[in-house]
Amino acid sequence: MAESTSKPTEQESTNGTIIVVEDDRNIAELLDLYLRNAGFRVLQAGDARRGLELAGQEHPVLVVFDIGLPGPLDGLQACRELRKTSDVPIVMVTARDDELDRVLGLELGADDYVTKPFSPRELVARVRAILRRSESGRRAGDEPLTVGSVVVDTLRRDVRADGVEVQLTAREFDLLAFFAENPGIVLSRQQLLDGVWGSGWYGDERTVDVHVRQLRRKLGDALPLATVWGVGYRCG
Ligand code: CA
Repeated sequence: MAESTSKPTEQESTNGTIIVVEDDRNIAELLDLYLRNAGFRVLQAGDARRGLELAGQEHPVLVVFDIGLPGPLDGLQACRELRKTSDVPIVMVTARDDELDRVLGLELGADDYVTKPFSPRELVARVRAILRRSESGRRAGDEPLTVGSVVVDTLRRDVRADGVEVQLTAREFDLLAFFAENPGIVLSRQQLLDGVWGSGWYGDERTVDVHVRQLRRKLGDALPLATVWGVGYRCG
């Protein structure tokens, strides 16, 4: 499979670089077109190795991984690999429901996913929503929020548990910030989906549980996050 990297466009791209890792050329070209029209610089990679290489070199604002990729690494493994070194937002593209189960089950740290067939317009909307969330997080921050012995600085997007910095994905951060902004309140999974993922997000409530598990794993006892049986979660 030939790998390809599209040339940076002549058009001024103001919204940053997105890396599209997708071996299906038709889909890749379509995403390229739509994302460029939305003002992004797009770099394409036909396999995971090249995608990771570009992600390391090009300072992307977001990476799109198809799951079914040729070569030694599939999109799931590539996502996990990238998460070791970067908290750049990641969108997974799944072809089948069983792939989606793996995305949700493996706790890869992806921020969102779309299932094929999807409309490029839908993907662009998802991308915008993710980037808007990370941006508003940067702008809206006032004083850092404290919950338990976790301090959430939404201005710097920095999290400390007992004074030690903890690396979270963009989505995990947004979820934690949402909990911290609503201390002591029981939040249903649907409220969390609406508040963190956005009302335009058509996802499964299991995705909330997956992200909660990650927060618990990373923050441990520092985060007072209780499961409210049959309802959702309460933090603080
Ligand atoms: Ca593929």
